[in-house]
Amino acid sequence: MSEILFISDLHLAPERPDIIQLFLKFMDDKAASAKQLYILGDFVEYWLGDDDEARGLEPVFQKMKQLAGSGLEIFLMHGNRDFLMGKEFAKRTGCTLIDDPFVISIDDKPVLLMHGDTLCTDDVDYQKLRVMLRNPQWQEDFLSKPLAERIMMAKALREKSKEETQSKSENIMDVNASSVNQAFDTHNVNLMIHGHTHRPNIHQLTIKNKPAKRIVLGDWYDHGSYLQMNGIDDYSLHEYS
Ligand code: MN
Repeated sequence: MSEILFISDLHLAPERPDIIQLFLKFMDDKAASAKQLYILGDFVEYWLGDDDEARGLEPVFQKMKQLAGSGLEIFLMHGNRDFLMGKEFAKRTGCTLIDDPFVISIDDKPVLLMHGDTLCTDDVDYQKLRVMLRNPQWQEDFLSKPLAERIMMAKALREKSKEETQSKSENIMDVNASSVNQAFDTHNVNLMIHGHTHRPNIHQLTIKNKPAKRIVLGDWYDHGSYLQMNGIDDYSLHEYS
């Protein structure tokens, strides 16, 4: 069996132990027999540096390390909540960090992987904030602060974002069509997989007169969600519970 699994937006947090349990079950049920697992961002609710031991999430990291040790290849892309996951986290879990965007090859066909937030270009305020948060100098400064201070700063940022999100229209929070077209074009692909919007779907598109697909992974709130690919034309998007 050489299947590839894709998940995103689990938003794992000790406050939601049922989803932690569901992920552990998923790892044993599905991932253990797969070849590769791609986690496309927002794996955890927040990550403030690898020096945070992240109490309550230990079973998650142990399970990853265990399956990585028995041959599962785990790749992790940053989302907008866990972009500070670094080398120590990768070591702790046995995963490989990958860039956003990232192009993989399935049956010799290129497939574009993204978290998805960079496609939401109608949300101008968020894109501005993202530029700041992804600046290496800003990250270095932030990580040099004591953990307690980082926790306070992140809390303030989340409160602000929550307020802003409530006043934004649904459309602003979704992908921008021309940004999607541009991504297909830039990377010269006709299959794209991303998460972030929590709107699981398989969109059939036409890009430059050729058929293209945009697969959107679902979040792990009411239930889990994963994409299984056994080949470039053999894929299925599942709910998991
Ligand atoms: Mn996200």
